[in-house]
Amino acid sequence: MSTQTADSLRSLPENHEFTFRCTSDTCDMRCCTTGHPLVLSPFEIQKISAFTGISFDRLEDDYLEESHDPNTGFPLFTINRERGCRFLNSRNCSIYSVRPLVCRLFPLGKLYDSGFRYVLLDENPCTGFESGVNNSTRRFRAEQSTDLYDSMWEIWVSFINEAEEIGMADKSLFRSVFGMLVYNCDLPPPGIQPEDAARMSTEAVFRMRLAAAIEALPRLKAIFDKK
Ligand code: SF4
Ligand code: SF4
Repeated sequence: MSTQTADSLRSLPENHEFTFRCTSDTCDMRCCTTGHPLVLSPFEIQKISAFTGISFDRLEDDYLEESHDPNTGFPLFTINRERGCRFLNSRNCSIYSVRPLVCRLFPLGKLYDSGFRYVLLDENPCTGFESGVNNSTRRFRAEQSTDLYDSMWEIWVSFINEAEEIGMADKSLFRSVFGMLVYNCDLPPPGIQPEDAARMSTEAVFRMRLAAAIEALPRLKAIFDKK
């Protein structure tokens, strides 16, 4: 998912046909080195941490940038491409098998407003469009194995909507504390032993983390509302 503004983007029909093949051997790798910051879901951060063995604290300090959603104030973690993605190793993605959805989908994008939609930049300089290879949004997504990442993004957006409905106190510290409950994959979900969490799939741990955070939200909110 990208933080780029929607006005440069065109919504795509359900199974859009387009000409594209990634030509990474000969291109300038602009998908990893230029453009808007790439937003990662906590599931994707957890996947990267499990794959690389890099703790959340170190990912936060050395690999990702923290910002806030302009609408909800919710903490966001992004990859800054302008400064060079820290996972880019020469011309290879060092986390290719767990790369986030936004990287899998490029040159397409996925946006959420009233629902999810796939989009394409109107003017996209990626040379893969010149490959002459016929593709379609459905085939491309299958090739890039996006299903799991798509579904985890959908769960994540539903979670944020639910958290907003319950009420997020209007204090940035509260949002950060609440946000850390879902982002900090160095800790097991509340009530779960670390060794039990280590045996579970990343998806299961992510779902448990969100469920525990939603349960904790009213209690945390009451504490912060008193301050
Ligand atoms: S998606 Fe485009 S810019 Fe990125 S490596 Fe492939 S051809 Fe190059
Ligand atoms: S995570 Fe991998 S694919 Fe995504 S921007 Fe970084 S190097 Fe490129």
